[in-house]
Amino acid sequence: MCSKVNSYLSDLSRFLTARNLQLSPTKSTATIFTNWTKEYRLELDIAVDGVKIPTVNNPKILGVTLDSLCSFSPHTTAIIAKVQSRNKILKSLAGSTWGKDKETLLATYKAIGRPVLNYAAPIWSPRCRGTQMRKLQTCQNTALRTSTGCLLMSPIEHLHNETLMLPVKEHNELHSKPCLLGCFRRNHPCGHLLGAEPPPRNIPHTTAIIAKVQSRNKILKSLAGSTWRKDKETLATYKAIGRPVLNYAAPIWSPRCRGTQMRKLQTCQNTALRTSTGCLLMSPIEHLHSETRMLPVKEHNELLSRQFLLGCFRRNHPCSHLLGAEPPPRSIKRSFLDYVDDVVQYADRTSDATDFRQVLTAIHSGAINTFTDSLPVNGVLGVKAPPIADEELQLPRETRVTLAQLRSGYCSRLNSYLSRIDPDISNICPACNESPHDTGHLFACPTNPTHLTPSSLWSDPVETARFLGLPLDDLDDNTDNPYHPNGD
Ligand SMILES: [Zn+2]
Repeated sequence: MCSKVNSYLSDLSRFLTARNLQLSPTKSTATIFTNWTKEYRLELDIAVDGVKIPTVNNPKILGVTLDSLCSFSPHTTAIIAKVQSRNKILKSLAGSTWGKDKETLLATYKAIGRPVLNYAAPIWSPRCRGTQMRKLQTCQNTALRTSTGCLLMSPIEHLHNETLMLPVKEHNELHSKPCLLGCFRRNHPCGHLLGAEPPPRNIPHTTAIIAKVQSRNKILKSLAGSTWRKDKETLATYKAIGRPVLNYAAPIWSPRCRGTQMRKLQTCQNTALRTSTGCLLMSPIEHLHSETRMLPVKEHNELLSRQFLLGCFRRNHPCSHLLGAEPPPRSIKRSFLDYVDDVVQYADRTSDATDFRQVLTAIHSGAINTFTDSLPVNGVLGVKAPPIADEELQLPRETRVTLAQLRSGYCSRLNSYLSRIDPDISNICPACNESPHDTGHLFACPTNPTHLTPSSLWSDPVETARFLGLPLDDLDDNTDNPYHPNGD
């Protein structure tokens, strides 16, 4: 492959030289993209004008850090560091009792933090592994906590509900879909991607053999019966017609078989063993195997694989070359083309610009609705959180922070929260000694009766803040309230 690249490079160099341009070896690097971990450290023998160019694994092109295995971990690591440093800027603008309001802080995060997480998302986000995505989400959580003043213990769903924002993964998927849809437009430079073959994947051999064994288990059942007919020696029938299917060519497929598939194979064997022994469904699998003195499928196939591998060591064994061979390629991970099923329905609406924009909006609201529907119920209300009334905007930050915390159920004004951090504090109301002292109790405490309910935290934030004695600033202060700090 290097020689092909080299001959192309010399062609390119001749082409450029003829036009008084030059290919610069010092500014060039070579990178191999592979799914074969062993090739990762390969030194590429690629030269420009006779000068060998360095091989690098993590080139940064147009702001995306690429890597040879296309896992994009180096990219996510880089942007995590970036967002973390920008979160510090956010922190210096905020403070739970002073500083900028939620809207300014969120706008700042949307301007300096979130774009880093979204940049070129269609390229790297679909291939991003769960752990990396969770780290990115943690960065966003920090920013949202800073903006709303919510405590560490408040659930992530609450943060997104409070700020009306999508989590990183959902937001990046939302960005990937319009990008894919754009590919459907005539003459789009990425249009060829749509016709491309999907990346290779393992064809589940196991699915085929499970069906086979299941049908053979029926034969076994017709031979057996817990009180009549054949004895435990039906086992011999299973070993003759069922198990060989599970074992056949096991060294080839069994080591790559995933846990779920292997468990399905095991279930087939369990059925056969229950039929043979007459054991009931509830009897443990270990019992079945000890009763029949047989190995579970995985262990049995491993045994066969080891035996086969050992055979390879024999002189002139036709498979002996495998011993020195490179490890097999890793399975190909996802790309944004995986979303094709979601957007293909819009494919014929990409030519007209207005139509196209409408479809983009449809994708956007679809993503939001899916996420909103998936949100769990609010822990305080026991139902999904309603929207927060706009009148909350009039309140000072300190008060809005407290309200946001009370809506999450975790607030330093509540002994239910404090008792979880400090075991010396008990979860009782300081006014009436009832337990628990949670958000609900503030509205139900007999010493401070009110017509307000916990849902007033959403629907009527100003009145609720007044009732709770939270600072109202320039709004008319009700100093009659004994709970108000200025009231006594
Ligand atoms: Zn009370």
